[in-house]
Amino acid sequence: MEKRRPTAWMREEYEKLVAADLDWKLRVLQGPSAPRSIVDGRSVIMLCSNNYLNLSNHARIKDAAKRAVDTHGAGSGSVRPIAGNMNLHEELERRIARFKRREAALFYVSGFAGNAGLIPQLVGEGDAIFTDELNHGSIIDGVRLTKAFRFIYRHNDAADLERALKEADPKFTKLLIVSDGVFSMDGDIAPVDQIAKLGEEYGAMVFIDDAHGEGVLGDGGRGVASHFHVEEKIHVELGTFSKALGVVGGYVAGSNDLRNYALNKSRTWLLSGSHPPAVTAACIAAIDVLETEPWHVERLWENTRYYKKELVSLGFDVGNSATPITPVMCGEASVAKRLSERLFDLGVFALPIVFPMVARDKARIRTIMNAGLSREDLDEALNAFERAGKAVGLLK
Ligand SMILES: *Cc1c(COP(=O)(O)O)cnc(C)c1O
Repeated sequence: MEKRRPTAWMREEYEKLVAADLDWKLRVLQGPSAPRSIVDGRSVIMLCSNNYLNLSNHARIKDAAKRAVDTHGAGSGSVRPIAGNMNLHEELERRIARFKRREAALFYVSGFAGNAGLIPQLVGEGDAIFTDELNHGSIIDGVRLTKAFRFIYRHNDAADLERALKEADPKFTKLLIVSDGVFSMDGDIAPVDQIAKLGEEYGAMVFIDDAHGEGVLGDGGRGVASHFHVEEKIHVELGTFSKALGVVGGYVAGSNDLRNYALNKSRTWLLSGSHPPAVTAACIAAIDVLETEPWHVERLWENTRYYKKELVSLGFDVGNSATPITPVMCGEASVAKRLSERLFDLGVFALPIVFPMVARDKARIRTIMNAGLSREDLDEALNAFERAGKAVGLLK
């Protein structure tokens, strides 16, 4: 028998991706993520980062990170439950809770770790989970780790969710509804008001992953629950510092009971080293900035309104977006890819999103607005879109 080559399959799988043009070709930032960044050696207008408020490069936040290295060192030394629980982590959680107007919060290494670690501890055998068909991959992984029965409801369809709740109600012990607050591929907002109401009616726990709503929606960027004024009906609000807040790290906010339970049960929290002091202090400073400098969120929305209006008047289809996530619909994957390449040549960085992330005929360029872009930057980007759109045949 031929000797087994235990890892030969890796290259074969990779070559299949390359042949289908589905492999990631990584671009390299040579410097900070900024409204104008240096990417692969060229200066480009950044239209695909999650750095909505341009906080990743904010002076107060960078200073806080530097100071924390001097006062607390480079690393935390342990997991939180053993010897890695610094006063900075505790302060950050108090600040998150105050910002979110909730009793308590728990900081995770990432939003992904929050979903993957907490969802499987909320429901199990004999329980049911209700999940939007377009929920983020980290929710899907969290759901896969539970033995709960799964109802996958139609995207943003409260009537379909209710149908599933009715069917489940007498048969299962605990019920858990999970949804993204803002969906990252289309920029549409979940009907969190209706979800909250259904949760109340059926006695279900409601878990909203607001990774793309924090710092963007609601009062002062407090997120989608604030946007709909339903904070008290959402039992778990999950957020991240890796997007609008400009740093990294996830959290859940809710009741004291939630925090006490989650920190004793989530394996991703218990068994993973805690964030270093620089990250933690930068997150505290990011909340300071949101609380004291309201103009970042205001500028984000001003830019968003202008940019969307101009894209539509050029003749582009921007889909169902209700947020600064603005897809530019292309149809065929090949059109989206050519448009992205043309844009890069014209100094605009925006990546195509194609199957399997979206349906085969719904390929798009996904752009994300940034508060730090000036009107001149936006006009330059729009001009590039017009030229590139004509070059690839999307515009007449
Ligand atoms: C980005 C994202 C996450 C992951 O957050 P990280 O903190 O970067 O791990 C989770 N959920 C949703 C909906 C996201 O968009």
